[in-house]
Amino acid sequence: MNLIIFGAPGAGKGTQAEFISKEKGIPSISTGEIFREAVASKSPLGLKITKIMSKGSLVSDDIVLKIVEERVKKEDCKNGFLLDGFPRTLCQAKGFDNLLLSIGKKIDKVISMDVAEENIVKRLSSRRICKKCGAKFNLETLPPKIDGVCDNCGGELFQREDDTEKTIRHRLSVYYIETQPLIEYYKSKGILVIVDGNRSVEEISRDIKAGLSSK
Ligand code: AMP
Repeated sequence: MNLIIFGAPGAGKGTQAEFISKEKGIPSISTGEIFREAVASKSPLGLKITKIMSKGSLVSDDIVLKIVEERVKKEDCKNGFLLDGFPRTLCQAKGFDNLLLSIGKKIDKVISMDVAEENIVKRLSSRRICKKCGAKFNLETLPPKIDGVCDNCGGELFQREDDTEKTIRHRLSVYYIETQPLIEYYKSKGILVIVDGNRSVEEISRDIKAGLSSK
């Protein structure tokens, strides 16, 4: 199954992507994660996109499409994949459709997580991530047992540089202008599954499961 999970930054895509990936046995691919690793390793790609990332703006479509093309052609994607954070523009969506067509694949379902703006700002500014194992916590909805310490591995928790209120507002405006129009694009293809993301992780997960098993 080839899937896309779609929604504003902070909609909870990453958390749900982990569940779906485990359940379906397909890799979950986050373009944001790929870019953060490139920045951290100071690779040529990383150096090119460091400023764009810290501002919360979008990496150019040609760079993103090339990275995603390389990734979905890997062996572990032969039975499917789940994309998180891609596509983010109409140009990326159309470019990706053409790529999939050329390799005899297609997107089966697009899960769209709908979350109110005030919830997003609250969630993102309280998001914390483990430096060591990458586990995600939320001071409001999923707090660690010990302040600042990862429940899984004892690593130190940190806040993403682009999770500050000013950058969150910018990322959201980019989302509304560039990315939200994709909802109509996928709706017109009849593959959109809309999920109310303003609820508990378990309720959202249950709706996604139901949406993915429906025709
Ligand atoms: P995310 O973790 O999905 O919120 O992505 C973090 C940052 O990575 C974004 O604010 C962008 O700078 C960049 N990024 C991730 N995915 C894309 C994409 N599909 N197109 C353009 N930029 C992206």
